[in-house]
Amino acid sequence: MDKVTEMYGTNVFNEQTMRQRLPKETFKELEKTIQDGKPLNIKIANAVAHAMKVWAIEKGATHFTHWFQPMTGVTAEKHDSFINPQDDGTVIMEFSGKELIKGEPDASSFPNGGLRATFEARGYTAWDPTSYAFIKNGVLCIPTAFCSYTGFALDKKTPLLRSMEAISRQALRVLKLFGNEDVRSVKTTLGPEQEYFLVDKQYFEQRKDLIYTGRTLFGAPAPKNQEMEDHYFGTIKSRVQKFMNELNEELWKLGISAKTEHNEVAPAQHELAPVFSTTNIAVDHNQLTMEIIQRVAKKHDLVALLHEKPFDGINGSGKHNNWSISTDTGVNLLEPGDTPYENAQFLLFLTAIIKAVDEHQDLLRLAVATAGNDHRLGANEAPPAIISIFLGDELTAVLESIENDTTYDGVGKELMKIGADVLPKFTKDTTDRNRTSPFAFTGNKFEFRMPGSALSVAQPNIMLNTVIADVLCDFANELENADDFESALHALIQRTLKQHKRIVFNGNGYDDAWVEEAKRRGLLNLKTTVDALPYSILPENIALFERQGVLRRDEIVSRYEIMMEEYTKVLNIEALTMIDMAKKQILPSIVRFEKELADTIVLKRAVLETLPSSYETGTLEAISTAMEQAFAALKALEVKVAELHQIDDFELAAAFVRDVIIPAMDSLRAPCDQLEMLTDTELWPFPTYGKLLFGI
Ligand code: ADP
Ligand code: MG
Repeated sequence: MDKVTEMYGTNVFNEQTMRQRLPKETFKELEKTIQDGKPLNIKIANAVAHAMKVWAIEKGATHFTHWFQPMTGVTAEKHDSFINPQDDGTVIMEFSGKELIKGEPDASSFPNGGLRATFEARGYTAWDPTSYAFIKNGVLCIPTAFCSYTGFALDKKTPLLRSMEAISRQALRVLKLFGNEDVRSVKTTLGPEQEYFLVDKQYFEQRKDLIYTGRTLFGAPAPKNQEMEDHYFGTIKSRVQKFMNELNEELWKLGISAKTEHNEVAPAQHELAPVFSTTNIAVDHNQLTMEIIQRVAKKHDLVALLHEKPFDGINGSGKHNNWSISTDTGVNLLEPGDTPYENAQFLLFLTAIIKAVDEHQDLLRLAVATAGNDHRLGANEAPPAIISIFLGDELTAVLESIENDTTYDGVGKELMKIGADVLPKFTKDTTDRNRTSPFAFTGNKFEFRMPGSALSVAQPNIMLNTVIADVLCDFANELENADDFESALHALIQRTLKQHKRIVFNGNGYDDAWVEEAKRRGLLNLKTTVDALPYSILPENIALFERQGVLRRDEIVSRYEIMMEEYTKVLNIEALTMIDMAKKQILPSIVRFEKELADTIVLKRAVLETLPSSYETGTLEAISTAMEQAFAALKALEVKVAELHQIDDFELAAAFVRDVIIPAMDSLRAPCDQLEMLTDTELWPFPTYGKLLFGI
């Protein structure tokens, strides 16, 4: 065996390890539990816990933790040791089935949006046996869901699992109609491509904005940006290579199938793409990947920036959410097939997605709404804040011929009649062209390109699964009652395409003309987080989530509050950091430069009244003007932030941030960036874009 296959998954209590270490009966029971999503009985849990403990201790672990994903978007863990002191002064290493399946983290500090009143008992975590336990930093981590004792989901995993169940339930109904009796479950699949920036740690540490907020709040453009597309990385190139090698190894040990690439457009930007897997596992893996990228980077004196927009004027970072849906018999339902029936089935799922995306643009948009992502969506950079679907010309032509009962040239000038025709093969080449589309069909999956790099991909997948499940449910209701399945199917697809084709757009999504065109089509254009989030609590959206059993009213309302508050908190920290940097670093440094210039002018005049000093006087004048502007903007921002702190209502606060704080921040940044251009680099108080991006 080579090194990679040998190390792959060594830190994971995966199927192979379980098969080796569990009694045969126990393994079978566990496997059944995993496949059917049944609750684990305590006898099995005890046996699994024991085997897990022995395995973990052999690997040097001393602690275990229930690893969960609170609503903040990061992961959380509270470590407990295996140690159990005995009466005779010794200890034994213990880990029970009870501890495996259920935990009670002291999680009162996690945001819950009022779901868990402080007087109530703590929430509990419960093992998601479909996601393997793993060892990280000497700790056995058990992937868990996090709920309150009243059954409310306090995390991102619980609704994700519920949404996967919802889509499985509805897809099974549809598959039955096509005669697929052998399919027992359907799972969504996910391959999230992760972008990030690397900067030198010593420069990072000199910038309060990067430390406090993860992005630069000041910074004039370097003489060179990304226009050369040569991704120059000079002095730390070999360090990056070493970093990537170690990153790959760390991820492989955790069974995360990473293949790193470093081909992004922006300087210092990189991308990591895993091989896709079942959605909840892929989400766990992506959370781990983000954590490990950051940890490994530090070891190489680098800092990984996961922020969606670390640098103004340079492309931001996203996380392409490659999504599909597969049966337990191994069929990708978004893969056009070879037989008329397979193709009819494919077209029905495709139509369901078209309808779901069109009807629920608001939910998909708000699933990716964060303060950081607002810098990307609709801000001169891929993709726009408008949701649309790219299908490619070929598939679009097929759908048009179905819609209009016209001939499709691709298959011998025949009428496209569902269930009777063979579809052309859609090769990847013909479908993977459009990079500007937020939601693109790429041959056998959809690529949702809107999520930001720091987002937990649980969110967009909860939305996708739920809205598509709901449409599949409607479709199944209609078709189950049909007398003639084939003609009912044809009518359904035809009618749905007619109603929802406005969402299909194969053109350039970055073009201003598209914004106009989208408006004409009546598509939503929700530019900011504050515009998008309120859609989550619309009565019809609450009803949808309740209908599909994914989120209850209280859970939705609390999430809305948490996300709005998070937006305000992020911007509040950014504004305070700007004030701090301007007041304590930028303006005092510039005063020193002003003094140098003024002293020089005075000295020169003392030597000879007529000595030319246009650089000194001109610069002093320009600097003084910019200083005045910066100081006025600083005072204004301080006043506005004080006003923000007086607003109790979270909706009013978020709107105030959008309408008042952000423009006030922009007004402070502009003169400060101008000052940077006018000042001796030696006197500028922190590393410039040139240093951060090019090392000079
Ligand atoms: P690119 O988008 O760069 O052209 P690919 O299309 O090969 O590259 O794959 C991009 C991502 O999509 C990878 O993470 C891959 O694992 C994932 N992917 C491929 N097939 C599926 C699928 N059926 N479901 C979900 N993700 C998938
Ligand atoms: Mg891609």
